Amino acid sequence: MRLTSLAFIFASVFASSVYSSSTVASVPNAAELTAQVESKVIAWRRDLHQHPELSNREFRTSKVIEKHLKSLGLEVQTGIAHTGVVAILKGGKPEPLIGLRADMDALPVTEVVDLPFASKATDTYRGQKVGVMHACGHDTHVAMLMGVAENLVKVKDRLAGDVMFIFQPAEEGAPEGEQGGAELMLKQGLFAKRKPEQVFGMHVTSSMPTGVIGLRSGSAMASEDSFTIKVMEPTNSWLAPLGWC
Ligand SMILES: [Zn+2]
Repeated sequence: MRLTSLAFIFASVFASSVYSSSTVASVPNAAELTAQVESKVIAWRRDLHQHPELSNREFRTSKVIEKHLKSLGLEVQTGIAHTGVVAILKGGKPEPLIGLRADMDALPVTEVVDLPFASKATDTYRGQKVGVMHACGHDTHVAMLMGVAENLVKVKDRLAGDVMFIFQPAEEGAPEGEQGGAELMLKQGLFAKRKPEQVFGMHVTSSMPTGVIGLRSGSAMASEDSFTIKVMEPTNSWLAPLGWC
């Protein structure tokens, strides 16, 4: 799926929930706005792809986001759930508050493709040195939400409500012994002052043709869970008579 189309989808779907341009002809529509940031979104995505970071270690990614949101004049909150970044854009008309969320973390996967922006990054995962790669597309999500933020700032006076930009770390799960992700963001008061009426999360997928989106209320994808298996050796092993142990 082409990034351009994805950026358009993100901007269209999310911007249209709060943005109405029908009353003023001079205000650009979502497609025009998307075209204005397309090259930036592609560049951000390639930069992020080249510098992937594991869950709860999204330090550089966090800085990239913070710098951009501050350059847009937004008040930025950092360090939520370790590396999360949040900003609220005040629209020209009161209510509602809509949340737009992008996850930030990469996976312990070694990239083998031959692209100029391929990842050469490594880190330690469960005690082992591993390659790190944006193998789940979260680089696209971050870049796209940065582009959406830039565009919505341009039309903020016409926004029917406010927008909370939520950049969430550790979607893939916090490292062992650590907390992280959306749960920790909420624990640390993400919605304590103001809770969005709706939050839109999004995930790229290659299972749909370019230009097609799927929408679902509630959960849309499978998620992982973990459990521990304790293997106990029996006191009198029944295998012993068979000569197996
Ligand atoms: Zn993912």
